[in-house]
Amino acid sequence: MADKRDYYDVLGVGKDASDDEVKKAYRKLARQYHPDVNKASDAETKFKEVKEAYDVLSDGQQRARYDQYGHIDPNQGMGGGFGGGDFGGGLGDIFDMFFGGGGGRRDPNAPQRGSDLQYTMTIEFKEAVFGKETDITIPRTETCDTCFGSGAKPGTKPDTCNVCKGSGQQEFVQNTPLGQMRNRRPCSHCNGSGKIIKEKCNTCSGAGKVKKQRKIHVRIPGGVDDGAQLRMTGEGEGGHRGGPAGDLYIIIRVKPHDFFVRENDDILCEIPLTFTQAALGDEIEIPTLTEKVKLKIPAGTQTGTFFRLKGKGVPRLRGTGQGDQHVRVIVVTPSKLSDEQKELLRQFSSHDGAHTHEQEQSFFDRMKRAFRGD
Ligand SMILES: [Zn+2]
Ligand SMILES: [Zn+2]
Repeated sequence: MADKRDYYDVLGVGKDASDDEVKKAYRKLARQYHPDVNKASDAETKFKEVKEAYDVLSDGQQRARYDQYGHIDPNQGMGGGFGGGDFGGGLGDIFDMFFGGGGGRRDPNAPQRGSDLQYTMTIEFKEAVFGKETDITIPRTETCDTCFGSGAKPGTKPDTCNVCKGSGQQEFVQNTPLGQMRNRRPCSHCNGSGKIIKEKCNTCSGAGKVKKQRKIHVRIPGGVDDGAQLRMTGEGEGGHRGGPAGDLYIIIRVKPHDFFVRENDDILCEIPLTFTQAALGDEIEIPTLTEKVKLKIPAGTQTGTFFRLKGKGVPRLRGTGQGDQHVRVIVVTPSKLSDEQKELLRQFSSHDGAHTHEQEQSFFDRMKRAFRGD
């Protein structure tokens, strides 16, 4: 810490610089060294140095202490980090810095956005295909309607805490082998809020928030698939001190169907065919998501053949049109035959012998060629 540069030198201002001059100098240097814009290897170190100097010199109390004690400021603690964790996170976005509050200290009374919530909803296969509107009930914390989040009885206002003067933080002095150390902790009088509520709101008992079972209307668009996530803006937990509510995320789980299988926007299904339907051809009825349609099975259809029913799939979630339905036919070998049927099949087999033999012949030829490596 001994080789630390003087904060005034870092910012390039005089010891008598006004708050405005300190701010201007900081903005100029931060713009110059912010790692988002400056790719030099030491930019980040320089930026941190500039920010640290600014954090101290822009805070009246800290600046006065720095003027008195220099870098041995007890507030710095032993690790050298500064000011109660303002530096803990990243460097902050450069836009926040120049268009936002200028990188000042965090205000304990600043509005804060509510947390996001997650809700898992299981729906039927066809509900995912065609969409669904429903109501769900979720437990969530909302801003109290009676006091609008202040926690004070209507007609009264919270007072500024007279212990911490509204900062929400209390300084305390610790004796250590290195001398007296000054540290901060949340004000115990106001629990870090900076405010004292004398007359508490009856609805929320001063919390400013209430637990509610809230009914929410959800519209699931047709075409959603298992694992889809719907975001409902502002339906999460209520914000704090006037901050916006968080969002509600609805995770969709889709139950499987007995007959249809979904693959993105397409539907797959299997239809059994009798041996005679496959051999002689037929016209059969196929269930689709909306209706029954007729499908022509040509004579001589092999098991495993796919037929496509165009536009009978799932409506596309984004864009227009629908997927297709793919029908796979499975030829079922008869297992229970009457004596008469068996006899007919024997007769069929003896007539069909030459053809079967022909097919087998070509199959064995191909296999022999494969063994020879052709
Ligand atoms: Zn306080
Ligand atoms: Zn209230």
